[in-house]
Amino acid sequence: ERIVAPAADDLERAAEAALRPRRLEEFVGQLVVRDQLSLVLQAALARGATPDHVLLSGPPGLGKTTLAMIIAAELGASLRVTSGPAIQHAGDLAAVLSSLEEGEVLFIDEIHRLARPAEELLYVAMEDFRVDVVVGKGAGASAIPLALPPFTVVGATTRAGLLPAPLRDRFGFTGHLDFYSPDELQRVLVRSAGLLGVRLDADAAHEIAGRSRGTPRIANRLLRRVRDWAQVRGDGSLDLRAARAALEVYEVDELGMDRLDRAVLGALCTRFNGGPVGLSTLAVTVGEEAETVETVVEPFLVREGLIGRTPRGRVATAAAWAHLGLTPPDPLAP
Ligand code: ADP
Repeated sequence: ERIVAPAADDLERAAEAALRPRRLEEFVGQLVVRDQLSLVLQAALARGATPDHVLLSGPPGLGKTTLAMIIAAELGASLRVTSGPAIQHAGDLAAVLSSLEEGEVLFIDEIHRLARPAEELLYVAMEDFRVDVVVGKGAGASAIPLALPPFTVVGATTRAGLLPAPLRDRFGFTGHLDFYSPDELQRVLVRSAGLLGVRLDADAAHEIAGRSRGTPRIANRLLRRVRDWAQVRGDGSLDLRAARAALEVYEVDELGMDRLDRAVLGALCTRFNGGPVGLSTLAVTVGEEAETVETVVEPFLVREGLIGRTPRGRVATAAAWAHLGLTPPDPLAP
C-alpha cells in the first residue's frame, strides 16, 4: 500500500481509533459543516426528537466516520455501523433495521454501493419508519409491514453524485467535507502527537502537514512514520530533522507526492514531451493499470494543478515541469 493512499485497511483503522476526536468541539476544521451539524443536533436535543438523517460526502480520510461517531456521542445515542458493500441482500438490511432501538444512529459507510433492492427498502425505512418483512416464497409471498422506532441514518459517500435522487432526498441535512488547509492539518498533528504521548515540534508539524495532501488520515500516518524514525534513528525527538529524514525514507516529497506520482508525472514530461497522451499509454509506461492511474494518482495531480485533462489526453502544466526541475520543450522549436 502507498503511504499517501487516502483509504485505510482494517489494521490502520484500529490504530486510528485512538486518535479520533470524540466531540464536535474537538473536531478540527470543517467549520461550516461543524456549525450546521451542531445546529441540527442541538435543535433535536432541545425538542427531544431524533434529528433528520445526515449525509456526509467527501473524499476518503477526511473524517466522515469520525463525524458519524461524534453525532451519536453528541446525541447520547448508541451507534450501529454497517456499509453499502457489507449489505449483500435487502434481507440483511431489513434485519439491521428491525433490530434498531429508539434514537439509535445507524451509520452506513459507502452508501452509494448499496444494492438497488436494499436502497429501496432504506427509502421507506427512512421516510415512514417502516420495513416490509417478506414472508413466504414465490406467488404465496406476502409483505408484513413492521413499524420501526425513530432513528437517524448517517450515510457516508465519496461520490454524492452517484447517489440516486430518491435516496439523496431522504437526507434532511447534507454536509460536504473538503480537503484541509496545512494549518488545520498542523492542528490535527499536534493533537494526535499529544494523544500518542510524544512532543512534536511546531516546524516538524508544519513540514508533515504540507506533505499530507489535505487529508488527516495521511497526516496521522506520516506522523507515525516520523515517530518510528525518531525512535530508531534519531534521539527520540520529533523535530524538523526527523520529519524530513523520515519522509525522505518513504519518498514523500514536499508536495506530498510519492514515487508513483512522480513516475507518472516524469513519464508524461520526459517520454511524451508533456503530452497530450492517452491515459492507457501513460499507465502502461509506468507499469500500472489505467484504472489505478485514473483513480489513485491523477485526482491529486489534477488538484495540485500539475496535470491537465484535455480531450486529446493528459498534459503536463508549467508547474509540473517546475516541480520535476525540468525545462519544458520550446513550442516554437522545429
Ligand atoms: P473517513 O471516514 O472520511 O474516511 P475517518 O473519519 O476514518 O475518515 O478519519 C480518518 C482519520 O483522520 C481518523 O483517525 C480521524 O481521527 C482523523 N481525522 C479526520 N478528521 C479529523 C478532524 N477534523 N480532526 C481530527 N482528526 C481527524
